[in-house]
Amino acid sequence: MRPTGPLHLGNYHGALANWVRLQAEYECFFFVADWHALTSDYENPAPIRGYTREILLDWLAAGIDPEASTLFIQSHLPEHAELYLLLGMITPVPWLERNPTYKEQIEQLQNRDLSTYGFLGYPVLQAADIILYKPFGVPVGVDQAPHVEITREIARRFNFLYGPVFPEPQVILTQTPKLLGTDRRKMSKSYGNAIFLNDPPEAVAAKVATMITDPQRMRRSDPGNPEVCNVFDFHKLYSPPEVVAEVDRKCRTAGIGCVECKKLMAGHLNAFLEPMRARRRGYESEPQRLERIIAAGNEKARRVAQATLEEVRRAVGLR
Ligand code: ADP
Repeated sequence: MRPTGPLHLGNYHGALANWVRLQAEYECFFFVADWHALTSDYENPAPIRGYTREILLDWLAAGIDPEASTLFIQSHLPEHAELYLLLGMITPVPWLERNPTYKEQIEQLQNRDLSTYGFLGYPVLQAADIILYKPFGVPVGVDQAPHVEITREIARRFNFLYGPVFPEPQVILTQTPKLLGTDRRKMSKSYGNAIFLNDPPEAVAAKVATMITDPQRMRRSDPGNPEVCNVFDFHKLYSPPEVVAEVDRKCRTAGIGCVECKKLMAGHLNAFLEPMRARRRGYESEPQRLERIIAAGNEKARRVAQATLEEVRRAVGLR
């Protein structure tokens, strides 16, 4: 994940929830992609450091166990840059130009000059980040699926040219691969529609109060349709099944109004976030613990990355 802001519910349900689940079954590597943050934020890099810490705290708060998983920071491992360089030699430029995320971001982020070599090469760096660890899979939200596909293509091309070194990693999606924000667009920190994992309870309630519901339901006395209501989708994520069933019934019969329904959901959402807030406070009270976790993670990741790079150099004929 890129340190361009604190994590929101979309990041959690699209990716982080899977990380927490997978760490019990797999050896997992999770890193803060600070070089990737520079691809779009190179003109204003000052906040990247602070967000790096915030994101690590968000992960730990969400239940990432630093004993079970390896947590590290991309720019602390120059091995990523070496593999990126070598993969750059074999990646055809049209593969990058036709990448849907690239085209979309160039259109959406009009206020920045993204016509750089680094921004075009974003998926090549991401491919290096991924295949250095020879993974079985990559747990991301569905918007990242095209990048994992490019990673598979680059790995295949490397293996074809130099012999089999890399597996082709799978995308691992959650049940909620794309969570919508308060305005029904994809939840994203750049759209101003995000609820953050570390928002205080009042901020959560205030954001929920602005959520768009069934647009056909104009008056309190009109029956609503939960199937088209984003608040109802959130109920399904956070409220117990009996509440979901009751809200479903009462919405359709105008037995509950949107204001009340949102308050009910915000309460359950806050209850869901409460254990994260508590864990976060624990880590915040011990700043040195975070430093130790990263130092150990960097070390462990480096051992794996260096072993892969040795193989890569030999395969390419540089050793
Ligand atoms: P943002 O779009 O807020 O900048 P990132 O691009 O940093 O978020 O995404 C980090 C991870 O979270 C990726 O795996 C991405 O697929 C996932 N993700 C981001 N937004 C959502 C969303 N709204 N729903 C599901 N997953 C998401």
